[in-house]
Amino acid sequence: MNVHEYRAKELLKSFHISVPFGVCIEENTSSAIAAALRAFENHSKVVVKAQIHAGGRGKGHFKENGTSGVRLVETEHASEAAVGMFGKTLMTNQTGTDGKIVHKVYVTETVAVAREFYLSLLIDRDRQCPVLMASDSGGCDVETVAQTHPEKVLMFPVDPLLGLQAFQARRVACLFQLSGGAFNECVELLLNLYRAFAASDAYLIEINPLVLTQDGHLSALDCKMQLDDNARFRHENFASFDDPNEAEPTEAEAKSVGIHNYVALDGDIACLANGAGLGMATLDLLDALGGKAANFLDIGDTASAEQIEAGFRILLKHPKTRGVFVNIFGGTLPCDRVVQGLISVTETVALRVPCVMRLMGNHKNEGLTLLKRSGLSAIATEDLTTAAKAILRETKAAL
Ligand code: GDP
Ligand code: MN
Repeated sequence: MNVHEYRAKELLKSFHISVPFGVCIEENTSSAIAAALRAFENHSKVVVKAQIHAGGRGKGHFKENGTSGVRLVETEHASEAAVGMFGKTLMTNQTGTDGKIVHKVYVTETVAVAREFYLSLLIDRDRQCPVLMASDSGGCDVETVAQTHPEKVLMFPVDPLLGLQAFQARRVACLFQLSGGAFNECVELLLNLYRAFAASDAYLIEINPLVLTQDGHLSALDCKMQLDDNARFRHENFASFDDPNEAEPTEAEAKSVGIHNYVALDGDIACLANGAGLGMATLDLLDALGGKAANFLDIGDTASAEQIEAGFRILLKHPKTRGVFVNIFGGTLPCDRVVQGLISVTETVALRVPCVMRLMGNHKNEGLTLLKRSGLSAIATEDLTTAAKAILRETKAAL
């Protein structure tokens, strides 16, 4: 789950990490904008920042007016700058050419920057532990720095049982060539950052730039944060980080009915399987035969008839769906419950695309009988490869 900059900074602040003062404007009305700007009456300048789930905003630009997604402006022009962002499409090197529509705008105080650093904590899947990355070349694209000047990026694993150690934090403060109070502040900040990372079940917290201010303090000017969705059950505050505007619509709908293993993909064959492993095998097989999946949907083994119906509804609604491929290995989940889900959904949504069901195991025969009686044109078979070839053939034929 991606977290907006303004919320990520609130979280950092709650772990005693210094961030510039800021107010988020959540709606594009003159009263909301004016209310937010009232907090900056004593500031001659402010930074106006588009809130989207993508980085590179400063160097990005709006399709509509060419201005940047992060603007330092005179406070009297802040309202204009905010209006110039709301509802507009920001394109950055991370959004692709489609860009992202801005629904929230964050206004912050300006900071007199002396130096900019890069700092991040992330989960390294290969090492199976957190990794700390730091560079004294902050503010710019860290991937480029890592490629052109790998010696400028310090990277080391953190033992998840011990947590970040003070000597490791001092190594970073040395890299930043800090001294005196700023050195100690940096060590404190790193230890707090690790606490925030571990306590929030984050898999990424990136502060780029972390700045040394002209009066010798550290401040997190930007923050990109990703939290582990699988840890939702132990974090009541996660729900408050969700932004429906940023969610892929079908993924949001799946979540709302309790289907958490749904991922929208680029292809045109909608897939439904019971079990993540079976789901992945389904995608692999389609791919090997030259097909492309429109999604990954694992209904699990305990899905209710309602959830299965909702799953089918989402698949059929997806604009790219040109065929539906069901792969059920009936264990705890009986095959006929899945067939019933398809039948129920077709009472309200017409099955306009070919559908192939691979049914095997528990209540397979009941499922087949149910399908036959329903009069639906879905094809059912027991063999997976036969089923995959059938959906590819039928989808092509229906073109
Ligand atoms: P990003 O482009 O999406 O990573 O957005 P950032 O929040 O990192 O902003 C882009 C750049 O704007 C930063 O790297 C800073 O160099 C600059 N910037 C943002 N806020 C301030 C500020 O208060 N003072 C100064 N001097 N620069 C700022
Ligand atoms: Mn940044």
